[in-house]
Amino acid sequence: MVQVIFLGPPGSGKGTQAARVSELFQVPHISTGDILRTHVAQQTDLGQKAKAFMDRGDLVPDGLILDMVLDRLHQPDAQKGWILDGFPRNVAQATFIEQVVLQQKAENASDNANDKSLNTINLEVPDQVLIERLLARGRADDCEQTIRHRLQVYHEQTEPLIQFYRDRNQLSIVNGNLSVDQVTAELKKAIVAA
Ligand code: AMP
Repeated sequence: MVQVIFLGPPGSGKGTQAARVSELFQVPHISTGDILRTHVAQQTDLGQKAKAFMDRGDLVPDGLILDMVLDRLHQPDAQKGWILDGFPRNVAQATFIEQVVLQQKAENASDNANDKSLNTINLEVPDQVLIERLLARGRADDCEQTIRHRLQVYHEQTEPLIQFYRDRNQLSIVNGNLSVDQVTAELKKAIVAA
């Protein structure tokens, strides 16, 4: 079972790499940002509530995110593993997914007692490179002011998860400031070794 969490700041290449790793290991790529953007485009109730937070570069409140993630994880294709991209983004979300994984493990204990499957990968890229990459990407929430705010939110709320996963022995660090192919090769090594 492959269960991988991609940490890493906006612009670190999480989305691109998560898609590639998902293909390699044949498990779904679950991007909370993509799911939210679909809700916004379809003007669902959730999309309408989430939009203002996304436009500002703030995190969408956990009360809106957690059910959305749980729903996705309960779908049949996610039963054999997943690559999470953009979730968790704060300690409350990390605690939530930890409980979900532990519960799943307890339910499947007789199947595979030694399965040490959860692996968190931090893609490291310097801030200056991130800003250049994000400005070049040109997504709706990619203007310079919002980019700087998203980086600030990342440093304040998401970066503490590096220590959270280090404490649990579930952290690998991969240099995200290499070519796309080189990063994928490093990720593959990290996931297989975990
Ligand atoms: P991303 O595509 O991962 O950069 O996400 C785009 C935006 O969606 C973020 O700036 C947040 O506003 C929102 N978002 C995505 N994932 C989460 C999450 N796990 N928790 C809260 N907000 C999120």
